[in-house]
Amino acid sequence: MSYDYDLFVIGAGSGGLAASKRAASYGAKVAIAERDLVGGTCVIRGCVPKKLMVYASKFAHYYEDAVGYGWSEVQPSFDWQKLVTRVDNEVKRLSKLHISLLEKAGVELIPGDASLLDPHTIKVGDRKVTADKILIAVGGEAIKPDIPGAKEYTITSREIFLLPEQPKRFAAIGAGYIAVEFSCIMNALGSEVTQFIRGDRFLRGFDEEIRSNVQDAMIQHGINVVPNSYVPKIEKVSDGLEVTYLDKEKNTESKIIVDAVLFAIGRAPNLAFLGLENTNVEIVQCEDNQSLPNLHGYTTNCAIKVDEYSRTTEANIFAVGDCTNRINLTPVAINEGRAFADTEFGDNPRVFSHETVASAVFSQPEAATVGLNESEAKEKYGDAIKIYRARFRPMYHSFTGKDEKVLVKLVVDSNTDKVLGAHIVGENAAEIIQGVAIALKMGATKKDFDATVGIHPSTAEEFVTLR
Ligand code: FAD
Ligand code: NDP
Repeated sequence: MSYDYDLFVIGAGSGGLAASKRAASYGAKVAIAERDLVGGTCVIRGCVPKKLMVYASKFAHYYEDAVGYGWSEVQPSFDWQKLVTRVDNEVKRLSKLHISLLEKAGVELIPGDASLLDPHTIKVGDRKVTADKILIAVGGEAIKPDIPGAKEYTITSREIFLLPEQPKRFAAIGAGYIAVEFSCIMNALGSEVTQFIRGDRFLRGFDEEIRSNVQDAMIQHGINVVPNSYVPKIEKVSDGLEVTYLDKEKNTESKIIVDAVLFAIGRAPNLAFLGLENTNVEIVQCEDNQSLPNLHGYTTNCAIKVDEYSRTTEANIFAVGDCTNRINLTPVAINEGRAFADTEFGDNPRVFSHETVASAVFSQPEAATVGLNESEAKEKYGDAIKIYRARFRPMYHSFTGKDEKVLVKLVVDSNTDKVLGAHIVGENAAEIIQGVAIALKMGATKKDFDATVGIHPSTAEEFVTLR
């Protein structure tokens, strides 16, 4: 049987782009369908525009901090429109760059919405094509709850980058990466921020001390975190959006008026209208009351069922990235995509390991983590776990008058001396943890950390001087 393509990829995001280029490099005839801008969530409406906004917002702290170092006070003004226009231009530039990289790799781009007609036939717009192998890399989208006003009046992370005006009063609902990162961005940009969380702490799945340190610092920065809260409705009123919220502990109902409400309560894979019912691809089912925990312990809707080689339950169909809901991070989607291509087209069967994947929350202060947190380690290794930590005011704050603390923490198995987890809250946490992640991946012991000479004066040196 001959097909139009050796590989057809649905979705030109992090996973799909990486897999298609790698497969083409082995000589496969590859096409990729994309219904939106090439680049996917990370490049167009995720990591990249988010990080640019983090950079923009951090200047507010530097202006303040500079005074303690002898600089005269400045009255900075901020132009929201200028920032969002520049960010939009940048993601469009990057999207074009990704198109040229596809061309260079010999991958055919087919714009449009793709769906499966059978296990080897794909429909994109009016066009029907066939492929020997198909890779589903359709990513996910933010979810909103079914409450009055959510659909009409609230935004998700998709829309926040395109708001024509800065919302001066901003509410975020959710307790994960996105709600935390945007609460910090908007707060530093000068908006009045309220963050509603349904539990008492955000960033579930992270080390408890990371969670409390980030949360305390954000409250210190003026973010109004409302714990144990539930938002049953959002209404449009003459001067904004009225958010009704219940305090589940105190049993009280209150209201606030804001200019924008962001829902960031998780994401669900883009599986609707994909034609999966025309194949044997199985979905990990989840009813409302039976949702699926991912590796960080959060819950989302459902996902494509895959094995360690990203094989679905249909022999020639594979899936990578957020639509499989393993660890929903860009470098993970890229690595899953490349492992798939190496296995299927490169004569190099290999499994990408989801263990010891580092991640960072670009909050202010930043948090980063790799390996097991204290409670996960205790559950696995019991009393053998030894914790090393330092919590201190970094030298940078000697003159700023701020009492913001850095936290550096190692989780060690005292039986083997192996470092099981490393956690940090503080400036440049993401940059620091990347190097530490190499050590953990190599199985470093606490002795190896101690034998490493620190860089002084730095925050990173704490990882090698903890006693
Ligand atoms: P995506 O990148 O979502 O790509 C899927 C593509 O498929 C999309 O372009 C979509 O349009 C297309 N598509 C879907 N259905 C179809 C169809 N039927 N036909 C044709 N095309 C289709 N991760 C990090 O590692 N670091 C970060 O700092 C970070 N920040 C983030 C910030 C935000 C606000 C968000 C929302 C996410 C962030 N992430 C971050 C997560 C990261 O963006 C995702 O994990 C990553 O993009 C997943 O890649 P993917 O290939 O699975 O899917
Ligand atoms: P997350 O899954 O990270 O977090 C959503 C949180 O919202 C949950 O932890 C849950 O917290 C809370 N929640 C769930 N349902 C409700 C509800 N009905 N009402 C109120 N709160 C609710 O989702 P995000 O949308 O923040 O991000 C999606 C994913 O994107 C992340 O998991 C991550 O993989 C990726 N991402 C990565 C980033 C990075 O690497 N820096 C940045 C942004 C996104 P609880 O159960 O504790 O109440």
